[in-house]
Amino acid sequence: LTGEGIPGPPAAAVVTVGDELLMGESVDTNGTWLAQALARVGLAVVGRWVTGDVPSEIQRTVRSALDWAEVVVVTGGLGPTPDDRTRESVADLLGLALEEDEELLERLKGRFRARGYGHLPEKSRVMALVPAGGGVLPNPLGAAPGLVLETPEGRLCVLLPGVPAEMRAVFLDGVEPFLRFRFEDRLQGVVHRVIHTAGIPESLLMTRVEELLAEGSHGVSLAYLPDLLGVRLRLTARASREADDAEARLTRVEDRLGPLLEQHGYQAETGDLAETVGRALLEGEETLAVAESCTGGLISKRMTDLAGSSHFFRGGVVAYANEVKSGLLGIPEEPMMREGVVSEWTAKAMAEAVARKLQTSVGLGVTGIAGPGGGSPEKPVGTVWYAVWHQNRIFARRELFLGDRSAVRARAAHATLWMLLRVLEGKDP
Ligand code: ATP
Repeated sequence: LTGEGIPGPPAAAVVTVGDELLMGESVDTNGTWLAQALARVGLAVVGRWVTGDVPSEIQRTVRSALDWAEVVVVTGGLGPTPDDRTRESVADLLGLALEEDEELLERLKGRFRARGYGHLPEKSRVMALVPAGGGVLPNPLGAAPGLVLETPEGRLCVLLPGVPAEMRAVFLDGVEPFLRFRFEDRLQGVVHRVIHTAGIPESLLMTRVEELLAEGSHGVSLAYLPDLLGVRLRLTARASREADDAEARLTRVEDRLGPLLEQHGYQAETGDLAETVGRALLEGEETLAVAESCTGGLISKRMTDLAGSSHFFRGGVVAYANEVKSGLLGIPEEPMMREGVVSEWTAKAMAEAVARKLQTSVGLGVTGIAGPGGGSPEKPVGTVWYAVWHQNRIFARRELFLGDRSAVRARAAHATLWMLLRVLEGKDP
């Protein structure tokens, strides 16, 4: 119950059945899909289980799930083969006798005939069995229908076929409308907003967020989702029953985070910073050229992954060998060797040289040691110098990126794009 004594959103749980899922041979995509679908409808997902094909295990798992949740959705094991034991196991658990449904049986026979298979095999008749009092949800794509069972305590147990397309169809056609009808005034849809950040580690991000939201977060919960390239901040609000103010509360929290986002946030539909950079280049009518050493073309790839990149991306040079840096880009060899191939001087020279060669308004230069070999005490593996040349101004930075070769390369490309975005937005890079 919520504070005012009104029941909160119904708790839901998902049970997926199949030895192949339990052993990790198949990925449980039904479980993730169902969890999202139930949350979208407005239930509170409280647990997910994966169980094998053994009846006693199916029963133990479904019993646990029913202890936790008012609605339990089970998928898999409704077919006619000997490893399909879900229907009988759950019926037995709930003390419901299985009865053959005339209409279902006729439909099954018709399906078989229509496909030219002749008579329905004896074993397939199990798909016409319905636990006493159970509701049948038609399966538009397969033989086994979905089933809705109710426990004496009023909890619901929904059984769905395991084939993903069939599971989704039965859920959308049958389960979702049923849940909306049954729990009408208790559903609380979940609204998410994802904020992308760069250039700030998770722990520091959390500290800054906590400072900015010290006065409260308007019932919005936060999740920190780090990956190789940055941390996504996911804001979640539940829509209240009276008025759908969830979006407004998300906006209020986002506004409060303003100073942090100004420094470390970026907006990208796809989640890729390259998209934001591309937009900024387009808006500023800028053109880009890239000279990459240790990133081997990663920046060029990310920029040209964008549809319409020909409007701002002129080209790139993978200047791996020193002869390419000097020969093709025209960087004088003597100072490059004196300053070092991985140095501020060389990164800056690469950025400026490629912009002049390709006649662009922006040039990028990246040079570093991706590893695993090639490091030294002064320049350990992960040391990268990167530079942005923009209309006669030049910026460069040295960083020590952690991780293996591919992580160092990916992080170096990302950091360079981040610096470019800062420069284009007129911020301190
Ligand atoms: P049907 O009624 O059509 O025979 P079923 O209910 O018997 O289906 P299963 O036999 O358990 O379903 O699975 C059928 C197929 O669907 C298998 O290829 C299985 O790997 C896949 N599948 C089952 N469960 C999941 C799941 N949770 N995630 C992804 N795929 C699944």
